[in-house]
Amino acid sequence: MAVVKADGYGHGLLRVARALEDSDGFAVLNVSEAIQLRDAGFRQPILLLEGIFSAAELPLLTEYGLSAVVHCDDQLSMLRTVRLSGSVDIFLKLNTGMNRLGFSPHLAPALVAQLQDCRAVQSVTLMTHFASADEAQGVEGPMEVFRTATRDMVLPVSLANSAALLRHPETRVGWVRPGIMLYGATPFPDLSARKLGLKPAMTMSSAVIGLQEIEKGGAVGYGGTFVADRKMRIGVVACGYADGYPRHAPTGTPILVAGRLGRTVGRVSMDMLTVDLTEVPEAGIGAPVELWGPHIPVDEVARAAGTIGYELLCARAERVPVTEV
Ligand SMILES: *Cc1c(COP(=O)(O)O)cnc(C)c1O
Repeated sequence: MAVVKADGYGHGLLRVARALEDSDGFAVLNVSEAIQLRDAGFRQPILLLEGIFSAAELPLLTEYGLSAVVHCDDQLSMLRTVRLSGSVDIFLKLNTGMNRLGFSPHLAPALVAQLQDCRAVQSVTLMTHFASADEAQGVEGPMEVFRTATRDMVLPVSLANSAALLRHPETRVGWVRPGIMLYGATPFPDLSARKLGLKPAMTMSSAVIGLQEIEKGGAVGYGGTFVADRKMRIGVVACGYADGYPRHAPTGTPILVAGRLGRTVGRVSMDMLTVDLTEVPEAGIGAPVELWGPHIPVDEVARAAGTIGYELLCARAERVPVTEV
């Protein structure tokens, strides 16, 4: 199932769903995203990754044919007491070491029995989520815990996120849950999207809207954090943190201007950022800029800003106009 939460990792929920219309299922965060998919005509299973947030959502599960994670006693007791017009496919989430959501694995047999006893439950899938699938030995412990706890059960399973899929073949079973890899960014700090053969789905682009010639000693931007050590030509790019560009991207963050690899200088402001065009004399007003995309991996911009590609993709602001190509 394709993970399309967070507005399809910033790419647009329905845009992504249409691009991936042949996927066997979709995974989202909440009922509202799931209903948007159903209203747009998608018929495949749709999983709520954190299940329901209140009992009021229960009737929507049957009305819209949604599958739901059950990760805690509260959700379980809601299911056990509710009267629904139909029944729901449940993903029972087991905590195999991430200690975020999920039941203690040794409870699995009892929980499965309780779920199978519920009139509101159609089927049970055993699920877990890995904390460190990006690491070489990251799933060994959790897989052992999961296998032991579910040893005698003949039920469907769902284990793998992108990192597990790419690095741990033993997790490629049942309902796999790729997210970031579908968008062409890497789940790994030490392995680039390009090396993985992934192509970015999103290009964040803009243009140069201003130019400044500054002398040695001239400062650029808020706080004057960048000071020219020679005569420089500075370009102003129409993209800032209100567009989703990370404010913490420091001087030196890679950027493509007029097809040439360059670097940002000074602080990123709300609607603009500044670049060094000293060596790119041909770049004038209107010169095209790639903030991230096929030439500038989003993961590299993210790394410079002390974050991960996921965050930058998800942070694409509503005001940024989108063109599908
Ligand atoms: C977000 C999410 C995924 C997808 O993770 P990626 O690292 O983007 O592949 C898979 N499973 C769960 C439970 C998630 O919350």
